[in-house]
Amino acid sequence: MTAASASAPAPAPLAGAQENPVLRERGQREVFCGLTGIMWLHRKIQDAFFLIVGSRTCAHLMQSAAGVMIFAEPRFATAIIEERDLAGMADANEELDRVAAQVLARRPDIKTLFLVGSCPSEVIKIDLSRAAARLNAAHAGVRVLNYSGSGIETTFTEGEDACLESLVPELPQDDSQEPSLLVVGALADVVEDQFTRLFEAMGIGPVRFLPARTSHDLPPVGPNTRYLLAQPFMGRTGAALDGRGAKRISAPFPMGAKGTEAWLRAAADVWNIDADRFETVVAAPRARAERALATHRADFTGRSVFFFPDSQLEIPLARFLYEELGAQLIEVGTPYLHRSHLDCELPRLPAGVQLSEGQHVDSQLDRCRAARPDLTVCGLGLANPLEAEGLSTKWAIELVFTPIHGFEQAGDLAELFTRPLRRRDLLRVG
Ligand code: SF4
Repeated sequence: MTAASASAPAPAPLAGAQENPVLRERGQREVFCGLTGIMWLHRKIQDAFFLIVGSRTCAHLMQSAAGVMIFAEPRFATAIIEERDLAGMADANEELDRVAAQVLARRPDIKTLFLVGSCPSEVIKIDLSRAAARLNAAHAGVRVLNYSGSGIETTFTEGEDACLESLVPELPQDDSQEPSLLVVGALADVVEDQFTRLFEAMGIGPVRFLPARTSHDLPPVGPNTRYLLAQPFMGRTGAALDGRGAKRISAPFPMGAKGTEAWLRAAADVWNIDADRFETVVAAPRARAERALATHRADFTGRSVFFFPDSQLEIPLARFLYEELGAQLIEVGTPYLHRSHLDCELPRLPAGVQLSEGQHVDSQLDRCRAARPDLTVCGLGLANPLEAEGLSTKWAIELVFTPIHGFEQAGDLAELFTRPLRRRDLLRVG
């Protein structure tokens, strides 16, 4: 199910913090809800279980989106809120306790149980924080946390942000006088390993990741923790880490050769790594990334791109397409413009590019149709209609599921954008 809010037109152009104009819109939105994040988080956190407290619609979303086979033992499920719960005929808390106990009895490997709220659980006001406290007391050896994945006024990557925010109070206190680096935002394990090797080779460390792969590895945090965001949708998690005394390292996001180099350099500067050592470590992987990108640049240079607001990755991706593939940006829409977390990205966008925050989908579709971009990056719900109108599209959600960070993935990231253009060119020739 996608989330949508009531239409309320009248976009208001605002002055952007970084020169470029920002069009702030509020109206009908076409985005997935925060439950979607469970699809990558349950693979990343290997001993966690996600118990959605929701409706059959929520269960269908998860089943169809994750493509779960009937014999699989996935680490997520939905405790269905039935009619009698809604009518107050059953005690929803008792039902939830019973389902949670069943899950934990069946899966002794589970060490963290996330109770995930949904639109229905929020509407009927089930207090999941109290439920988590109750279940924590009842089930020794299992950490029970809660967060909301509801689609009410949110977009799908906020699910990961809310999940990681719920973990922050659980992180052990680190009072070490030595600085440590915390990389924040779920990354594919292979990407995490690549970054670990690069940081180690530079002499930066200790390096830890949030989320950790298991509940035993929760990274400690304290006043000497410096954190680097790997994902741009970590607004609440960043604020929670700030509250624990950690300090953010301002950097672009590690996408593409230039983005990755600048991200690593930001950490290297904090650790006073000298320029020669930095260059020795990054030269070879950066050269591989640049070679991989060169093959795509010829396909992309001068092509126009229009971003609908969807994943919150839009600003770093637009910067990558402009800086590294020579794209012409028409409009870059994003659900939320977190100006401080994007402080190193916004100035790298070309002057005059239209930024938009929030969505009024009909107005935006009108602008997109008028511009006839070579490529439109948008949600699943808009892609097919736009393809039928002759526009090439890229599903934004694919960019969240695919490993796209780091030097070694730069070519794959470019490929995700050039493939639809090549397909369209082939169809035209045919
Ligand atoms: S949480 Fe809300 S938007 Fe998401 S599937 Fe459930 S009802 Fe639909």
